[in-house]
Amino acid sequence: MEMDATKVNETEKVKCLIIGSGPAGYTAAIYVSRANLNPVLYTGLQMGGQLTTTTSIENFPGFPEGTNGDELMERMRKQAENFGTDIRFGIVTDVDFSGPIHKVIIDNGKTVEAETVIIATGATARYLGLDAEKKYAGMGVSACATCDGFFYRKKDVAVVGGGDTAAEEATYLAGLCNKVYLIVRRNELRASKSMQERVFHTPNIEILWEHQTVDLFGEKGVEGAVLVKKMGTPEAEIVKIKIDGFFLAIGHTPNSDVFKKYIETDETGYIKTKPGSTITNIKGVFAAGDVQDPRFRQAITAAGSGCMAALEVEKYLAEKC
Ligand code: FAD
Ligand code: NAP
Repeated sequence: MEMDATKVNETEKVKCLIIGSGPAGYTAAIYVSRANLNPVLYTGLQMGGQLTTTTSIENFPGFPEGTNGDELMERMRKQAENFGTDIRFGIVTDVDFSGPIHKVIIDNGKTVEAETVIIATGATARYLGLDAEKKYAGMGVSACATCDGFFYRKKDVAVVGGGDTAAEEATYLAGLCNKVYLIVRRNELRASKSMQERVFHTPNIEILWEHQTVDLFGEKGVEGAVLVKKMGTPEAEIVKIKIDGFFLAIGHTPNSDVFKKYIETDETGYIKTKPGSTITNIKGVFAAGDVQDPRFRQAITAAGSGCMAALEVEKYLAEKC
């Protein structure tokens, strides 16, 4: 693997540039390489993407005994490399999508001129910013109930947030867990009325209105959370709850900032793609995975859309000739 940080003011021409090394980027790389289009892939800071921050993966097909995030992503990387993808460590720091050839700046230096670009830069779950979230990462703290809920069967857990994701995750966890606390910072939910109704009618969800989390505790993993009710008011009071899992559902930030000058996004920053495809508003630029998916955000859906982007790149280049 090549380090590009030292190569400044250099220009290179490629048929297909893939940005991101999560399931979407690597899957796109496998398909584009097999089509003999010699893709170059820049990994970004988080080589392997979000799954490298978790341990057990039980819902990715093909692994009946489960696998772990690092191993799964290592296998995807090797598969892409085996077919000839040129994988490099580097971060896209700027782009110029104003012309027919797309200019992509790596590490504030080198320019890659690409006929096609696949943006697969993912989305980052928001955290509260507590030290305890880092301390208990993978040991009771999670930002994905669909991924990790199964590990908390028949246990007590808490979900933080008041939007649709929090409501959906709390309802999902209620089907698996003994009890779910929904920790809401205001005295109302932001979630849609129908989602609220589902929460209100689920007997093992208890809503802790106007509560904020200030710490987590536990010996080997999360055993409880310290909350403050009505924080910052004269009636403020400390509340401790006993839980085994602490789920964040306070939103995600799509990693799309660097493209926003040219690429259309929704109000949250998710890249807009033509329905049923990975086509963006710029010809020859495609988006795959979580960066364009406010809804599913799963490894398998990211991989699936990486495949779609690769097939669309192939078609675009074939029609250009
Ligand atoms: P990501 O995996 O987010 O990868 C994005 C890539 O883009 C990274 O390599 C990053 O370095 C790169 N990048 C970002 N910005 C730049 C830039 N400017 N220049 C170059 N590169 C850049 N899903 C499941 O299906 N099952 C699970 O069990 C599961 N568990 C999870 C556990 C946790 C803790 C988390 C956070 C997520 C989990 N998910 C799970 C969700 C899953 O990880 C994501 O849906 C999936 O990784 C999205 O893939 P992606 O390729 O779109 O992006
Ligand atoms: P969201 O709508 O932005 O809601 C985030 C929630 O987290 C809000 O309730 C917010 O509180 C709370 N929050 C933010 N920062 C916090 C903090 N520091 N401490 C405590 N709470 C905090 O995000 P989302 O729920 O992920 O939804 C994103 C979008 O996807 C929305 O448009 C949503 O409708 C959509 N979505 C739809 C579905 C569905 O239709 N099935 C499912 C999931 C998501 P405040 O309310 O006080 O600001």
